[in-house]
Amino acid sequence: MNLILLGPPGAGKGTQAKRLETRHGIAQISTGDMLRAEVASGSEIGRQAKSIMEAGQLVPDALITEMLGRRIEAEDCARGFILDGFPRTVAQAESLDRMLAAKGRGLDRVIELKVDDAALVERISGRFTCAKCGEGYHDRFKRPKVEGVCDVCGGTEFTRRADDRAETVAARLEAYHRQTAPLLPYYAAQGRLVSVDGMAEMDEVSRQIEAALAR
Ligand code: AMP
Repeated sequence: MNLILLGPPGAGKGTQAKRLETRHGIAQISTGDMLRAEVASGSEIGRQAKSIMEAGQLVPDALITEMLGRRIEAEDCARGFILDGFPRTVAQAESLDRMLAAKGRGLDRVIELKVDDAALVERISGRFTCAKCGEGYHDRFKRPKVEGVCDVCGGTEFTRRADDRAETVAARLEAYHRQTAPLLPYYAAQGRLVSVDGMAEMDEVSRQIEAALAR
């Protein structure tokens, strides 16, 4: 099963992608996580991407498409994948269609998480993650059960994304509406798009996604 999760930053794509990975045994691929790893390692790609990401803009299509193309060749994608954060432009979507067609593969569903812009700034600016296992938390909506200790692994170090600052969030939302939202009619025309209510509770969103996959 090959899926795409579409939606603005803060819509809950990462959370839902991890749940789909666990439930269906398919690989979660977050191009944002891949780029953050490149930045952290100080690689050439990381050097090119760092300032673009900090400004809340999109990295060039060619760079990200090549990186994604290599990733979906990996062994853990043989049963399928969930793309979280790719494609983000129509050019990326067209490249993905070509790459999959060349391998005799295709997309099963594109799931849109619909959310109000007004809710996103608050959702994004309170996010933090466990530095050890990556579990996601939020200042208001999901604090660790014991303050300062990760519920999942007991880790005590947490990180915040450099681009989750309120100033950058506006640029990321603008990039979403201008460059990524045109993917909605693109995939609707292919008959693959399903939309779920991303404003609902996390478990309800998961339920709606599973219902869409079963249809
Ligand atoms: P994310 O973690 O998905 O919010 O991505 C963080 C940042 O990485 C974005 O704001 C972009 O700068 C960059 N990025 C991630 N995926 C893509 C993509 N498919 N195309 C262009 N830039 C991307």
